[in-house]
Amino acid sequence: MSLTDLMSSSKAVKDLKIKIKRLAEKNFDYCFICGKCTGGCTSISYFRLEPHKVVNMAKLGLVNELLTSDVLWVCTQCHKCAERCPQKVSPYDLIMLLRREAFKSGLKRPTPILLGVRNILKNGFILDEQTVFSRDLDEFNRETLSLPGIPKPSEKFLKKLSDFLGLGEGK
Ligand code: SF4
Ligand code: SF4
Repeated sequence: MSLTDLMSSSKAVKDLKIKIKRLAEKNFDYCFICGKCTGGCTSISYFRLEPHKVVNMAKLGLVNELLTSDVLWVCTQCHKCAERCPQKVSPYDLIMLLRREAFKSGLKRPTPILLGVRNILKNGFILDEQTVFSRDLDEFNRETLSLPGIPKPSEKFLKKLSDFLGLGEGK
């Protein structure tokens, strides 16, 4: 059985197909492939599948191919594709939906994204605490600047985020 067959049979992919179908019923069906989203995409030089193709692959039900594609992770979330679309379709919303599902299902978890998640779980911010240097190369951090420490996020927040991202024990 191929990877694609395995993924097709999983409940998670079936559920995702239903979610995408609902999203498509709302607006993707109005895409007439004008390419305006792709023409304005700020990350286009990194996209191997342009935004208009992502929309139309989803329309065709090619969810497995999209879920394992690197295309989901190069979007900078600028929202331009959604703003430029004359049909009020949002490739951005679709890409974010696919990105969340790829992460939650464990199909794709790029290292930079995992680092960001680790930092959020640690201190509530996507970036880790920074050290800066003066022109004289003196080193400063929150402690040397007498700034208060960054409080750890609440247990409730951590649990909600972990559940949302499917980061239960052993994942
Ligand atoms: S701009 Fe809108 S209608 Fe045009 S290709 Fe992109 S999603 Fe489709
Ligand atoms: S939101 Fe993503 S897909 Fe849309 S224009 Fe920006 S980078 Fe491109």
